[in-house]
Amino acid sequence: MIIQGKDVSNKILAEVKDIISKNKLEIHTVALYFKGDEESKVYFQSIKKNADKVGIDFRITEIGSENLIEEIKRLNDDQGIDSIIIARPFPEGVDSVEVSETIDPDKDLDCISPYNLGRLNYKDYDVAPATAKAAIDILKYNGIKLSGMNSLIINRSITVGRPLSQMLLNEDSTITVAHSKTKNIEELIENNDIVFLAVGKPGYLKATSIKNKKIIVDIGINVVDKKVVGDFEVDGKLDQIDYTPVPGGVGTVTSAEILMNALRLKMRS
Ligand code: NAP
Repeated sequence: MIIQGKDVSNKILAEVKDIISKNKLEIHTVALYFKGDEESKVYFQSIKKNADKVGIDFRITEIGSENLIEEIKRLNDDQGIDSIIIARPFPEGVDSVEVSETIDPDKDLDCISPYNLGRLNYKDYDVAPATAKAAIDILKYNGIKLSGMNSLIINRSITVGRPLSQMLLNEDSTITVAHSKTKNIEELIENNDIVFLAVGKPGYLKATSIKNKKIIVDIGINVVDKKVVGDFEVDGKLDQIDYTPVPGGVGTVTSAEILMNALRLKMRS
C-alpha cells in the first residue's frame, strides 16, 4: 500500500477551517526566511496557499540573520501577530538555542521553544513539531496502529528524530533511534515494524533489501535531477511493504500541521 498524505492533509485543513469559521477567529502569522534562501521562500509560499484556503493570514518576510533576534522580540511584543515561524536550517552564525529561547512560546508556530518541546515529555501538548506530528498522523489517519509496535527512527535531529521519538513513546510504540554512528542499522531495520527514515540521502534504503513485512515512513526530501525524491527507493516488488511516497506523503501533511499549530496557539490566548 502507498500511504498517501493528501487526504490526511485535507482532513486537517478542513478541521482548521471549520474551527476558525465557527469561532470567528482572526489569525495573523509571520514567516521569516533568510536573504537568499529561495527554497524556504517557496516552502512558505506553499503553506500560504493552504493558509489562504483556511482563512489564516500568513505573511512571508525576508530577513537578514543579523536582525533576527531583534525582529523576533519585536514580533513577540506585537499584539497584532499571533505566531511566528523562522525558516530552517538557520544560516551560519545564528545561534539556534538563542532563537528558540527568544521566541515567545505562545507564538511558537514551529514548536522550537524549550517550553513547547518540553511539554511533549509530559504527554500534554497542543502544538507539536510539524514534521514529527505529520509522520504520526499520516499513519493514524490511515488506520495504522502505533501502540505495541516496534519503531525505528533513523535521525536524531531536534526537528525530526528527537520530538518524533517522544511522540511515538506517547503513542505506546517502542522506540529505537539510529544515527550516523549506529552500528548494524540493517539488522535494526529488519527487527522493527515501522521505520521512520529522515537521513537526507536518496536511495538510502532500497525496497529490495527488506526481507520482511514493514511500514516505511519516508521523511527525507532530496532533489535529484530537478526531481524531489525521498530516502526510500522503490526498486522492486513491494508485496510486504507499505510506504509513504515522496512527494505526496509526510511533506504534504507537514504544511497542514503548521496551520493546525497556528490555530492551537490562537486557542491558547
Ligand atoms: P539532519 O539534521 O542533517 O539529520 C540527518 C540525520 O540523519 C542525522 O541524525 C544523521 O546522524 C543521520 N544520518 C546521516 N547519515 C546517516 C547514515 N549513513 N546512517 C544513519 N543515519 C545517518 O537533517 P534534518 O533537518 O533532520 O532532515 C532530515 C531529512 O528530512 C532531510 O532530507 C530533510 O529535507 C527532511 N525533512 C523533511 C521534512 C518534511 O516535512 N517531510 C521536514 C524537515 C526535514 P548524525 O546525527 O549522527 O549526524
